[in-house]
Order: sequence, then structure tokens, then C-alpha cells
Amino acid sequence: MNILVINAGSSSLKYQLLNPETGDLLAKGLCERIGIDGKFTYKPQIAGKQVLDAVDVAMPTHSEAIQTVMNALVDAENGVVASMAEIDAVGHRVVHGGEAFNKSVLITDEVMKALEDCIPLAPLHNPANITGINACTAVMGKDVPQVAVFDTAFHQTMPAKAYMYALPYEYYENDKVRRYGFHGTSHKYVAGRAAAMLGKNIEDVKLISCHLGNGSSVTAIDGGKSVDTSMGFTPLAGLPMGTRAGDLDAGILEFLMNKYGMDIKEMVSILNKKSGVQGVSGVSSDFRDLENAFKDGNDRAGLAVDMFNYGVKKLIGSYAAAMGGVDAIIFTAGVGENSASQRLAIASDLEFMGVKMDAEANAVRGKETVISAADSKVKVLLIPTNEELMIAMDTAAIVKG
Ligand code: AMP
Repeated sequence: MNILVINAGSSSLKYQLLNPETGDLLAKGLCERIGIDGKFTYKPQIAGKQVLDAVDVAMPTHSEAIQTVMNALVDAENGVVASMAEIDAVGHRVVHGGEAFNKSVLITDEVMKALEDCIPLAPLHNPANITGINACTAVMGKDVPQVAVFDTAFHQTMPAKAYMYALPYEYYENDKVRRYGFHGTSHKYVAGRAAAMLGKNIEDVKLISCHLGNGSSVTAIDGGKSVDTSMGFTPLAGLPMGTRAGDLDAGILEFLMNKYGMDIKEMVSILNKKSGVQGVSGVSSDFRDLENAFKDGNDRAGLAVDMFNYGVKKLIGSYAAAMGGVDAIIFTAGVGENSASQRLAIASDLEFMGVKMDAEANAVRGKETVISAADSKVKVLLIPTNEELMIAMDTAAIVKG
């Protein structure tokens, strides 16, 4: 079975063709500058096939982008499948499913309508995801099944005490203002892998999943269900991130807006694009740059990383308390998979709750492995995330019924 996984943005579209049963990746790539001039990247994973790297291809709309992907995948010389008939289904990453979707779903006209209804919750992302679905229908026809896999769906198991904000209740009832959480596909994938690594049923374990990348979130997963997560109504909440502020006192907004005569648009732009570790350090949103700057004596770069690590540590402590214990802590995504020093800093001084790192085992990157000491009561796991494979697995499961 071959599943085409699509992650459509407003002017870009990432794709992977993979086999969810074996996990084999056949090809991956990217369409960029859709609606501008069009650049196409194609990376077949079969030896001897030609790679295309940001070559010029006119892509006035997402339909031409999908058509370009199809042409490459079935190309007689450099393709990876003989024809479009060998693509069994398409799985789409959709950012926001609101309260309407608590799991992945086969796309029908009714589902498309519900996706439209979710646009106010993710005005920048959902329209692009919908465009990607329509482009696939236009190019592949209505008979190829398409599935929507939501960033928010995994978190729909959170209890009300975790997802409600202490605002007047009507804002929840009328406007659906609540915590939704994001990165759900990643948290679900690594939770499944963690249970397998522990040799336990997912129903029997309490996990804390730390997805630490440019965007970061931590999730408490009890018995395979998300019970709390650090992102909120939007992905702006929780940890300080590359350029996002994370949690802060809402009173600061009024203070700064009054003082500098900013409107809400300017303020929110600062919170999303100029804050986080970039804002604190004044150096970069990239943790590698921060590490280097700190080594060169830049204290603010060190402070930004310290604030981030401290934020993750506090979430681990609070989620262990929320679940009444934890069996394993998972590190994933760019920082979680690669930064041994940050993992060590985050998991240090947690011996009181049974967490003991193994510095040698931790000196590793991008590999599924146990990084806690043999006698650590709580296991600490490094698990590379694979959202595309999770989307393909969900898509296959739904298509097979
Ligand atoms: P992601 O959003 O998951 O792609 O993660 C991107 C983040 O991972 C960036 O801030 C990178 O600096 C960070 N990252 C990647 N490799 C390393 C590394 N070796 N050490 C520290 N951070 C890293």
C-alpha cells in the first residue's frame, strides 16, 4: 500500500510517498513559491533515480503543484511507481479540527464543510490545507480516498479541567475558546513508539512527551490519551519557542500597547515573530546558534536557552503531578532529538521523582534509544518523530476500514 502524504501551506506544499506497512519511504520533496514562480524539489529514495533540487516549474496554483508531484512520481525514468493507480490514498495534514474531530477522518463533502467551519480557529493554516485537498481531488479524481489528519485531534481526550480557560463561560460555549493543543500527530507517534520500547501496552503507561523544535509543546499522555498539553487555543501558548513568546501575563499586552501606541495586530506580531529565544537573545531563533553564541560569551543567548530548558522542566514536574506519576519521558523534534546538553539540563535534578540520566547514553542524536540510567525508575527516551509516517498509518487504517 502506498500513501501520499501532503502538508499544504499557503505558498508551499511538502509531500512524501510512503508505505505505512513497512515504513519505507519511496520519495519526498517540496513545491515552493506556488502562485509566484514555482520551485520543485523531488528526492526519490531509490538508487540511481535523479534528484531535482528547487528546479523552476510554473505553479500558478496548488493544482499545478500536485500535478507536478504526480508527474515526478510516475515518470518513466525517474519515478517510483508505475502509475497513479499505485497510489492508494492521500493523507493530509490539517492543522485545526476544532471540537468536531477527535480522530482522523475520511474526507467527504460533509467533512469539507466542517473543515471550512474550523477556519476561524486557524485562519492562516486551514485554508491552505483545504486548498491542498481540493488540488488533489482536481488532479487525482474523486475515487482516490483522501483522509484528514489533524494536529489537534489527539488532544481532544483532555478533560474539561485541562482545556478550559478561566474566562466567562460563554466564550467557550459561543466562541469555542478553549485549549486545543497542537503537534498531536507527533505526540501520538512517539507515544506509540515509547510503549513499544517499554514493552508495554500503551493503556498501561503514563508518558510525558516533549516535542522540542522551532515550535515546542509538552504533552501528558495517560493510557495513550492526551490529558494535558502546553499549547493552547493557538500554538502561541506554553513554552518560549524560536520566535513565539509562550505563556505570559496578559496584562503585559495592555501595558506595552499603551506605552508604545501599538494596535493588537502589532502586538500579536511581536508575540509570534519577535519573541521567544530570538527575542530574549537578540541572536537567533535557532538553538544551535544560541549554543555557539553562548560559548562565545553571549550571556543573553545562554539566558534564552536556560529559560527554555527551565520551562520544559517545570512542565515535566507539573504533568507528573497531574497524572500521579510518570513511567517515561520522551524527547523528540529538532532540539529534543539533537541537543544532548539541553536534554541533560532539562532532566537534571529530577532524581527526587525517579529520573536519572545516563550521560554516556545521552551522547547521541536522532536515534531511538533509552538515555536514562539502568536504575532510573522513570525511563527517558529519545524518539525521532515521524509525523508523515503517522499520517500514512492513520490514512491506511481508515481506508482499510
Ligand atoms: P524542528 O522544528 O523540529 O525542525 O527543530 C528545529 C530546531 O532544532 C532548531 O532550533 C534547531 O536549532 C534545533 N536543532 C537542530 N539540531 C540541533 C542541535 N544539534 N543542537 C541543538 N539544536 C538543534
